[in-house]
Amino acid sequence: MGLGQPLTQLPGIGPKKALDFEKLGVRLQGDLLALWPRRHEDRTVITPLSSVQSGGEYTIVGSVGSIDYDPRRQVLKVTVTDGLFALYATFFHARWLARQLQPGTRILLQGRVEYWGRRLAMTHPRHEVLSPGEEPARGLIPIYPLAGDLKQRVVQQVMSLAIPYLAPQAFEPLPHTLREQEDLLERPQAIMHLHWPPNKDAFEKARRRLVFDEFLKVSLAVMRMQQWDIGIPGVKQNPDGPISQKFLDLLPFQLTPGQSRAWASIREDLCTERPMTRLLQGDVGSGKTVVAILAMLAALDAQHQAAFMAPTELLAEQQWRVLNTFTEPLGVQVGLLTGQDAGQAARVRDDIALGRLSLVVGTQALLSPSVQFQKLGLVVIDEQHRFGVRQRAHLAQKGYFPDLLVMTATPIPRTLALTLYGDLDLSQIDGMPPGRLPITTIHLSYADRRTAYESVRQAVRRGEQAYVVCPLVNENEELDVTAATVLADGMRRIPGWRVGLVHGQLPSKEKTAVMEAYRTHQIDVLVATTIVEVGVDVPNATVMVIEEADRFGLAQLHQLRGRVGRGSKPATCYLLADPKTEDAEQRMEAMVRWSDGLKLAEQDLKIRGPGEILGLRQHGLAGFELADPVADLLLMEHVRDIARQIVDADPRLEQPEHQTLKKWVDEAIEDALPTQVLH
Ligand code: ADP
Ligand code: MG
Repeated sequence: MGLGQPLTQLPGIGPKKALDFEKLGVRLQGDLLALWPRRHEDRTVITPLSSVQSGGEYTIVGSVGSIDYDPRRQVLKVTVTDGLFALYATFFHARWLARQLQPGTRILLQGRVEYWGRRLAMTHPRHEVLSPGEEPARGLIPIYPLAGDLKQRVVQQVMSLAIPYLAPQAFEPLPHTLREQEDLLERPQAIMHLHWPPNKDAFEKARRRLVFDEFLKVSLAVMRMQQWDIGIPGVKQNPDGPISQKFLDLLPFQLTPGQSRAWASIREDLCTERPMTRLLQGDVGSGKTVVAILAMLAALDAQHQAAFMAPTELLAEQQWRVLNTFTEPLGVQVGLLTGQDAGQAARVRDDIALGRLSLVVGTQALLSPSVQFQKLGLVVIDEQHRFGVRQRAHLAQKGYFPDLLVMTATPIPRTLALTLYGDLDLSQIDGMPPGRLPITTIHLSYADRRTAYESVRQAVRRGEQAYVVCPLVNENEELDVTAATVLADGMRRIPGWRVGLVHGQLPSKEKTAVMEAYRTHQIDVLVATTIVEVGVDVPNATVMVIEEADRFGLAQLHQLRGRVGRGSKPATCYLLADPKTEDAEQRMEAMVRWSDGLKLAEQDLKIRGPGEILGLRQHGLAGFELADPVADLLLMEHVRDIARQIVDADPRLEQPEHQTLKKWVDEAIEDALPTQVLH
């Protein structure tokens, strides 16, 4: 046996089985080390039949008594007995099993027990036919992926033969000191326990070690690649200067613990010369803006300029207004740079160039070559997915690189992509500012559409406001606009409703005017295409109706819903939809059930399946076999920090104790890069 030996050298593996193993990615014996159990079956307890009760999950062992097989429907009914007590079991698609069973065959069953009439029964339990005299394996039993004609039992046997032999030969990339410091198992032991954990804690510990490795490998690989294209130094900010201090003194509330944690990591970045590239993730309403302001003021206190980039002009104006309320008492002026008014834009550009303005808000126009900063120290990008982080290249200033803070409201899969592709460090704001009322989400069929609009009517009567979001017509903006216009025209006929319409094709002056009217409550009901998606802040808006909600993705629905419930009054979001697919139905259910963006992102992963999210599997660099990019997010962040420390201390991994790491990481990079990048 040996890592580099072909599989056929193992007893019981002929050419046919070897081919099936190849379908699982296993060619050499060493490849078995990457064949992980998909789950474990808990067989720590085998319950005597006398103790089995209806409603419980059990593993039992007994002998087959009567056998009743219906070959047409392929339904098999058997009794299983220990001599005294009996239990009934039904199996579907059971032709193969029926052939294996005879009266007296010993069998292990695992599943839920329920009454059938007066008999205890299991419906399609997991099962294992035991050979005469065979004792069933006890403990947590690994269940492996299968391919071709492979049987679970065969794979289990191969693994129990090979892994104890191969695991001690597994490559140990981590320096001893790091393993100690992080309290990590040695890799060979982690591998063993991942297959055959003595208990659940041991499994978790083993998994943590191996997930740690996966994250560390990716992080280091990405950081090493980043070193190649960024040799440009950054600048230091000053988070303890007088402006920052005054801001904190005047802030009418305390930072939430989540905000404080996020700020601590940003602050640390700002104090170093290494250019910061950090993603600040926080659910809608979690208070990212305040954290961004802290970062920008730190730049100002270091005599640098700061820029805040919003995805649309509308949102730039809104953020400008928000920033003004915070910075006015500090005597800090905020510039607004949009394409709207050429004369004003020219003045703002001059002020920026001459350093008369230190803080400026705008759209991506801020990055155009016509905008010359005097000394740009920090850029905040709100809701990055409209921009593409690759634009970062445009940020390079004369001889240095400003700090970059990208903010987004939790589309985790995307965040993950960014983390993987090396553009960003990650901070997360957990939790919400105090005093938030939950938003009630209701899914209505079109038959009950009136219920939603009745709720709008009542809100308007109470002096509150509402959004009506129009269906998304497959990326065809024109059709969206038509739908929105028709809807708005219909509502304008309702007495007492002041209705506004906003969509992407309006000239920006008009858009601004409508939004301003809505903000100042000259409009009760705002009919909108998804333009309201991000960042609009009207606390008096308490009802949202989303038409044909099943056309939207979860992330988008969550963003939209975040536009209501921003004040002190309870809010409701109606999803109008008659979903036509299972996925769509699940999305509606998820929205009704979860208000937490993180949870939703998790659901999103489940509904769409991890394979689809990023094409992760296909991408060698991702290399996640065990890590769950959502559930293990905090560990991922922690490991990135460690990777960062390693790279900071030893950028080329030249130190002797990093030799194993270097070998491991270089291999990963080579595997991951398309050849044209290397040559
Ligand atoms: P988002 O993360 O969606 O950008 P915002 O930054 O717009 O969230 O914050 C939402 C609201 O919560 C704003 O009105 C903001 O002033 C308020 N807020 C932010 N932080 C706190 C806090 N620590 N305590 C109370 N209110 C806060
Ligand atoms: Mg925001």
